[in-house]
Parts: sequence; structure tokens; C-alpha cells
Amino acid sequence: MVEKAKYIWLDGKFIPWAEAQVHIMTHALHYGLGVFEGIRAYHCQDGRTAIFRLKEHIRRLFDSGHVMQLDIPYSRSSIEEVCCDLLRRNGQESGYLRPLVFVGEGVMGLHPQDNPIRVAIISWVWGAYLGEEGLKKGIRAKISSFTRHHVNVMMTKSKTTANYVNSILAKREATFLGFDEALMLDTDGYVAEASGENIFIVSDGVLRTPPLTSVLPGITRSSILTLAQDLGVQVREDLFSRDELYLADEAFLTGTAAEVTPIREVDGRVIGPGKPGPITLKLQTAFFDVVLGRDPRYQNWLAYI
Ligand code: PMP
Repeated sequence: MVEKAKYIWLDGKFIPWAEAQVHIMTHALHYGLGVFEGIRAYHCQDGRTAIFRLKEHIRRLFDSGHVMQLDIPYSRSSIEEVCCDLLRRNGQESGYLRPLVFVGEGVMGLHPQDNPIRVAIISWVWGAYLGEEGLKKGIRAKISSFTRHHVNVMMTKSKTTANYVNSILAKREATFLGFDEALMLDTDGYVAEASGENIFIVSDGVLRTPPLTSVLPGITRSSILTLAQDLGVQVREDLFSRDELYLADEAFLTGTAAEVTPIREVDGRVIGPGKPGPITLKLQTAFFDVVLGRDPRYQNWLAYI
């Protein structure tokens, strides 16, 4: 269960958590048209709270709205300000922020016309998404029997709520079979991403991740690519197959919720030595140094509240 916070911001107002309700005729509840973000705030070493890459997340929220033709009735800067204000009002030193834009009640049917575009921002405290142990020792993953979205079916540059039914099917299947996470192939059969994370492998010292064609442009993914380049690691954005993944020296997932989580096994095949490899550990350490404000070079990625 999510621990309730004091306030939720809904349609321009901070209201008590319990009062943030929607009507059953809310269009998005029936047909799934909404876009959202997931953002983390960290309690930094100097005692301040910083939201990681807030501007980039809000930019992606508006990009998602643009792709899905949801006209968000606020400015980007006002949404950024609400994110900071919400954490302050909820007294959360660290936490997870969830901006959600959805089609409200009005007409029914598949052409929502002038139904209101509603906006909520919620914050709650969330630990390691794939577990503390997963973060340290690596997780066991399974290639899903479900395929990732075709770019001309759901489009993958928008973080659309309905897209996540595909993720739920994959995650539920993997979890039911005793795995920690589902890895999804694109419609051509190449490795795309996990149910809610981007994927990286290391082969012969080269860090590889699939190009953005059929995956969400992850903000952690982009941060890791920059950190890797700055650390002198050779990086390549290219397609790879499931057997290239089985044969990788190292593999890991990136995402706001999952942060940098090593993969130690895929479909019963041990990856490398079966524990987080040196490049994974180097990047994981660099990532946590940045988000916790310990690396002055990346201060511009932090929005202190
Ligand atoms: N892919 C999918 C499908 C996701 O849901 C997420 C989480 N937002 C990611 C990748 C990682 O994106 P980010 O690093 O921006 O959280």
C-alpha cells in the first residue's frame, strides 16, 4: 500500500489526499487516454531535497501530451513549481512524483471532443522498485511472451497510460513464473526494453542499448549514456538479439523507479559471472553520486526544492 501523504494537487489546487477523487464517468477510466510521468526526489548529502532532472521529465510530459493531442492547460514552469511545492507541503525529504494528465468526464465514445483535460500531481515515498537486494546483487529476468508496442500501434515516445497494460501483462507473467522483471522484444524480435525500464548490456567493454525507435526515451537512460561517455566508456546505440543478451558480459536496467538495477540472469542463463560487473557498478555508483548531490559536475540535473 502507498503511504498517504497530506496533499494531492488536482486541477490547480492542493487538496487533502482523501478528497482527490474522480467520477466513474471519467473518460480515461474507460478508454485509457492519459499521459504521465514518474520522477524521483532524493535527500541529498547536504540535507537538501533535489528532484532529479525535473525539467526533462516535465518536458517529456508535455511531449507525451503533444503526441496524444492532450492540451495541458498549464505552463511547464508552473507544473515544475507545483512538483517542488507538493514535496515541501507533504514534508517529504525524498519521494516519487507522479504527474498525471487524463481526459475527464463529458461525452462518452471514442471522440472525447471538449472533455476537460485534467491534471493531478501526487507524491509518495517509494523504496527501491526492484528491491534493495536486486539493486545490490542483480535481478533475474525473463524474455516476455508479450511483444513491445509496434511504433504504429501505440507509439512509444509518449508515456501513455494505456501503454502500460502491455507492461502489466508482461510483468505479471514474469512475476508469476518467479522472475523479478520482464524483458520485451520489439515487433522485429530485437530486445527493446523491460516492462518499465530501459536496458543496457556490456559486450567486450562496449556499453550498448537499443536505439529509441520502439522504446520510451528514458531520462535515466540518457543520464547513463552521458555518465558513461564522461567516464570514457565506449557507448553504442544499436539493436541486439536475445542471444546477444544471453552472451553479454554485463546487463542492467535503468529507470526512475528502478534506478540502475543489474541483471544477473535471463531465462535461466547466467549473465557474465552472475553478479554485477565492473562497468555496471561504476555507472551505478556514478548515478547515485549524482542524484545524491555528491558530484558537483552534474548539479544542473538537480532541482533543489
Ligand atoms: N521504459 C518504460 C516503458 C518506462 O515505463 C520507463 C519508466 N518511465 C522507462 C523506460 C525508463 O524511463 P525513465 O528513466 O525516464 O524513468
